[in-house]
Amino acid sequence: MAERSFTKEIALLELGEGNTFRGEGILAVTKALLQSGVSYLGGYQGAPVSHLMDVMADANELLEDLGIHFQACASEASAAAMLGASVNYPIRGAVTWKSTVGTNVASDALANLASSGVKGGSVIIIGEDYGEGASIMQERSHAFAMKSQIWLLDPRPNLPTIVETVEKAFELSEASNTPVMVELRIRACHVTGEFEAKANQAPTYSRKNPISEPSFDFGNIVLPPSTYAQEKQKIEVRMPAAIEFVKKHKLNEVFDGGYDDIGIIAQGGMYNAVMRALAELGLADAFGNTEVPIYAMNVTYPIIDDEISAFCVGKRAVLVVEEGQPDYIEQAVNVALRKADLNTQVVGKDVLPMAGEYTLEVVVTGLAKFIEGSVPRGVDIESVSQALHALMTPKKMAAELLGGLVPARPPGFCVGCPERPVFSAMKLAQREVGDVHISSDIGCHTFSTLPPFNMGNTVLGYGLGLASSTGIAPQMGRRVISIMGDGGFWHNGLSSGISNAIFNKDDSVLIVMKNGYSAATGHQHLPSSDVNAKGELLDGSIEEALAGVGVKWVRKLRSYGVAKMAETLKDALTTDEKGLKVIIADGECMLEQQRRIKPMTRKKLAAGERVVRTRFAIDDDVCTGDHACIRLSGCPSLTIKPNPNPLKSDPVAHVDNNCVGCGLCGEVAHAAILCPSFFRTETVQNPKAWDRAMHTVRQRVISWFQIDGAADTSRGVTVT
Ligand code: SF4
Ligand code: SF4
Repeated sequence: MAERSFTKEIALLELGEGNTFRGEGILAVTKALLQSGVSYLGGYQGAPVSHLMDVMADANELLEDLGIHFQACASEASAAAMLGASVNYPIRGAVTWKSTVGTNVASDALANLASSGVKGGSVIIIGEDYGEGASIMQERSHAFAMKSQIWLLDPRPNLPTIVETVEKAFELSEASNTPVMVELRIRACHVTGEFEAKANQAPTYSRKNPISEPSFDFGNIVLPPSTYAQEKQKIEVRMPAAIEFVKKHKLNEVFDGGYDDIGIIAQGGMYNAVMRALAELGLADAFGNTEVPIYAMNVTYPIIDDEISAFCVGKRAVLVVEEGQPDYIEQAVNVALRKADLNTQVVGKDVLPMAGEYTLEVVVTGLAKFIEGSVPRGVDIESVSQALHALMTPKKMAAELLGGLVPARPPGFCVGCPERPVFSAMKLAQREVGDVHISSDIGCHTFSTLPPFNMGNTVLGYGLGLASSTGIAPQMGRRVISIMGDGGFWHNGLSSGISNAIFNKDDSVLIVMKNGYSAATGHQHLPSSDVNAKGELLDGSIEEALAGVGVKWVRKLRSYGVAKMAETLKDALTTDEKGLKVIIADGECMLEQQRRIKPMTRKKLAAGERVVRTRFAIDDDVCTGDHACIRLSGCPSLTIKPNPNPLKSDPVAHVDNNCVGCGLCGEVAHAAILCPSFFRTETVQNPKAWDRAMHTVRQRVISWFQIDGAADTSRGVTVT
């Protein structure tokens, strides 16, 4: 997909019986899907499961050979709806997305699917984007599983367990006629390891062996009275069948330990953190041997009451390690023990935090508190306290020494990003029109909410920028601006935002950032890209879609043209023309452009061909040191350096060598009438005779104007 190649990963997917697979967790999942005989695969990209989608897209030939249908879906709702294939037919399928955002979008289809129930194994690979590396609101997928009665598996982050869990998920789904979610945290997706591969399985039904007749059963339709029967069936038939399967196949694991008057009940996904924390406190070794018994819940919903009570018999206290809030599992453990009439003390969120990622530091601190409080037989409490102290002291000392000096480093626009100029233009337009309420959206453009722009008053969801402006727009004295990326446009912005605005005759301004890809998720293709994930040509057009729903005022502009963009924005904000006004800011994602250009440049250089590289620079003598250019641009290449003039103290602006020559610096200086310190320079590599001759002439001319007669080679064209 996009400009990256996944040849190595595809080779791993082709491994058969007797071969050892070595790689990342998310790739192991991909291989497990192929070993499970799926008929169809789909999903919507997003960290931490984008890699699964990208590799599947590139492995299309392999999938076609097996007869597996793959599609990159337009949204998570489309992906979830794909699972409808397994409602009436005994065919297996899997879809994937980033949760909880994707699960929010998919929840309508998921709730209906869970009500109907499934015949064929239906698995949803959930990329649980929770914790310090996450990019979304902090919630858990657990609630979705409980509300719709979808089983939730949370495998130990170790490749054989992950693979077995995926394979068993299909069997569990079929045994209980219920869809199954397999939850993978960011760390589980990126954990590396190995497992013994099996041969890929061609599905029973596919294009190669089609289903002969369609099947109809009103009992599967989500309409009364079927729905009443479906709800009863969920509770009376499907749930007991799932519990039976989980117990019989021992999906949850018990690890015995010598200090058996206490124990740890942990989500499978937290197992590695628990083991590491135990090892740090001297209660486990590096080979998986623990002194404290552990019940690892590779299935976190449904909770298996019998297993919980069996684990707790004879224990004075157990620690529940459950990441995130609310404490669903801890509550369920308390209920299970109460029902079993066991008085084992349940410790959890009282020694571990209710919210936030359970990093090693968090788990080790909570575990030490639990050990100190429960005083297990035979454990040397003093040595546990000393181990914790030794572990925490260096960090505490470092924090004291730094005195809070390390600044936060939030993400930002890439060097030369085509979306940054639009916000520069917006700043300039607002100087004349006045401050405007801006309804933001999800995508790279959300970085506009950070300095130096600080633009974007709300973010309500992917593709929801325009829809989220409809309540506030009538309350404001001037028109509001909404932002949407081309990813958000196709995901749902066209219907939830644009059609809605036309339907309600909203008088509003929308900017669509057309960078050509779903850039923030890893540059996957969109309906308005040239090709789809399989490389098939597309002709989706944002302009035609806008015209199709009745938008009359549409302007398409080059995103780097700051002056023109500012003028157009002013016009859109002040024109007497009512209705929705859409500006399409057209500029290819610079990161993706550079990925394409750089290998081509390397090849040309190796072949001795002439290559011209453009970049911008700043004349130290002209820069006044007020840094207005930095406040209007924010490009990471635009920085400061000490003023070479001994009579001036303010640092001068400086363009570092990462500049890709996008031109924004020149455009901003021109549009905002800044000091004329910027200049464009060209570096010619592998110059030809003409370049050398021109260079000599230029050097001579420049030297005539130099007081000391020496040419300043930092400007204009450099020949190397
Ligand atoms: S990935 Fe592309 S669109 Fe996103 S910030 Fe970087 S250059 Fe801009
Ligand atoms: S021209 Fe300016 S904005 Fe563009 S990459 Fe170079 S320093 Fe950054």
